Amino acid sequence: MSRDIRRVPVDFDWPLNKVWDGFLLPDELRLPPCPACEGMGWSPEAKLLQNRWYGKAPFRPEDRGSEPLTVETPGVRAFAERNVAHATWFYGEGEAAIVREAHRLSSMWNQQWCHHLNQADVDALVAAGRLMDFTHTWSREDGWQPKDPPHVPTAAEVNAWSLSGLGHDSINQSVVVHAELERQGLSDLCPNCNGAGEVGTDEQRATYEAWEPTAPPTGEGWQLWESVSEGSPISPVFGDREALIGWLTTDYSWGAQRTPLTREQAEAFVGLGHSIGSGVIASDGRHFSGEAAVAELRGGTP
Ligand SMILES: [Zn+2]
Repeated sequence: MSRDIRRVPVDFDWPLNKVWDGFLLPDELRLPPCPACEGMGWSPEAKLLQNRWYGKAPFRPEDRGSEPLTVETPGVRAFAERNVAHATWFYGEGEAAIVREAHRLSSMWNQQWCHHLNQADVDALVAAGRLMDFTHTWSREDGWQPKDPPHVPTAAEVNAWSLSGLGHDSINQSVVVHAELERQGLSDLCPNCNGAGEVGTDEQRATYEAWEPTAPPTGEGWQLWESVSEGSPISPVFGDREALIGWLTTDYSWGAQRTPLTREQAEAFVGLGHSIGSGVIASDGRHFSGEAAVAELRGGTP
């Protein structure tokens, strides 16, 4: 979050709060997305397995040799009890509310592969170093150390853990999906774009890679810009330095508030002529707002 003083031509006429065109990749340079994978780069088989992982494509626990969860599964029951206890206003109270919630959770989770791994899935995660909580111990002195004797978790252990609320992240998803595809002799990557997600020609790609942003023209004028977005002007163009300082001490606003700078702050900011952030931590640990930091840099007291 910062603001910059830019020197632009006095007749520079770019709309306020509109990102300068030169900072934006022109639409015609965008590489055409691959229609086969909608720009994602995945093969249809990978996409299907990813959807099964998250319950967005048909999945049954039996498909992985896993037992369907029920309202009595301990992990389901515990999760339902927690949910109900945290929001009785929503769930209601008592055994009926818990069973109803356990029903909802178990039927949702039974549609998701991520709660029904088989041993091959677990082995792939272990091989990728993903189930450290099961295979390693951790201490402040020694960090992660492999368990001795080595421990390879069972699918049942991992599936019980995945109901705990922490569960698998998207890296685990990609490891398991990749391993399954490999066992089937299939690829993760879209055959149409080879995983790139785009189908530009070599020439289009070269143009895209060669593109660089163009700064606004320079001149004798003074203008305040923000660089929270790619960069846009947020003040009129002033003919001289003094006029910009005057504006900063009267009309300057940031966000919804009008927050004019003091004369000292405005002079320091314009004097530095470059970006200030929304805050600065001084070497002695004091924190200053952006404007106060500028004054501090100039040796004044914020
Ligand atoms: Zn593709």
